[in-house]
Amino acid sequence: RLYNEVIELKGNIRVFCRCRPLNQDEITNGSTSVIDFDSSQENELQITCSDSSRKQFKFDHIFRPEDNQEAVFAQTMPIVTSVLDGYNVCIFAYGQTGTGKTFTMEGTPEKRGVNYRTLEELFRMSNERSSILRYELFVSMLEVYNEKIRDLLVEDCSQPAKKLEIKQSAEGTQEVPGLVEAHVYGTDEVWELLKSGSQARSVGSTSANELSSRSHCLLRVTVMGENLMNGQRTRSHLWLVDLAGSERVGRIEVEGERLKESQFINKSLSALGDVISALASKTTHVPYRNSKLTHMLQSSLGGDCKTLMFVQISPSSADLGETLCSLNFASRVR
Ligand code: ADP
Ligand code: MG
Repeated sequence: RLYNEVIELKGNIRVFCRCRPLNQDEITNGSTSVIDFDSSQENELQITCSDSSRKQFKFDHIFRPEDNQEAVFAQTMPIVTSVLDGYNVCIFAYGQTGTGKTFTMEGTPEKRGVNYRTLEELFRMSNERSSILRYELFVSMLEVYNEKIRDLLVEDCSQPAKKLEIKQSAEGTQEVPGLVEAHVYGTDEVWELLKSGSQARSVGSTSANELSSRSHCLLRVTVMGENLMNGQRTRSHLWLVDLAGSERVGRIEVEGERLKESQFINKSLSALGDVISALASKTTHVPYRNSKLTHMLQSSLGGDCKTLMFVQISPSSADLGETLCSLNFASRVR
């Protein structure tokens, strides 16, 4: 049976799928790829399930294992740079731990990801427009772990974290008072800043990879723009979000702290799914308040804001169950 899921462009919401390559361990263990990419249809993929049935999924764009960071950024650039035109933008990386969420957003020093490339492009474009527009860029980084917000750019990370809360401003936007906003002027400085924020993410955890898979990491770029011809000013936000791992945790191993964590993760990821699917279906009630994540992003989700979700998947037969869960999540938000 050929099962059809059509995930297509709906208004300002876009869904991209990125499949990482099989890694060395998987090859050694004899895992094979269950994903087929159609050579003529760039935005379709097929999965062979364990009973040999095939499921087909369609996205706004599909990145294959061989697609590099440049190829990913080429498709992402028009969305992220619209923040310079006054749009609020949210980009999410969703998926099971180990599928490349951090690789896509942060990347590595040699293969930099969307976060750094975006800032580089924002600096380039603002220079290009400098005869008519003046831009100022500010960067904040924060983490949401167990429904608590932590600033990742505070000077001294050994200090007990300041408790950050979401407040509604007089204009009706959601603000996080006290959050560090670093004024940034150039790309060298930005890479260092992103690195220090990313390091702060793992402070206090026994294993960096462990905690990062259970918290959401948010990079916020605030753009203040001024039109030098008419004096008109704008302030807009671009959020680049590396979400907590979407995997379901085995019931037996989950107790105490881990149980609480996984309940918070489930709650916030499903709240995000609910908000995006409400926006996609143009429902009037959008349930932003069900999690810290969606509440904080309220002013940047919906209306004429732009949203992009990267659904990150593994090609491995061993991950088939989680891959189908992620693709089904993506079809909810179409
Ligand atoms: P996640 O953040 O979803 O847990 P990571 O970004 O940490 O996953 O990726 C897991 C591993 O796979 C890392 O070593 C990463 O460098 C590698 N990886 C992920 N995606 C790709 C890709 N598209 N190409 C090459 N390596 C990748
Ligand atoms: Mg990660």
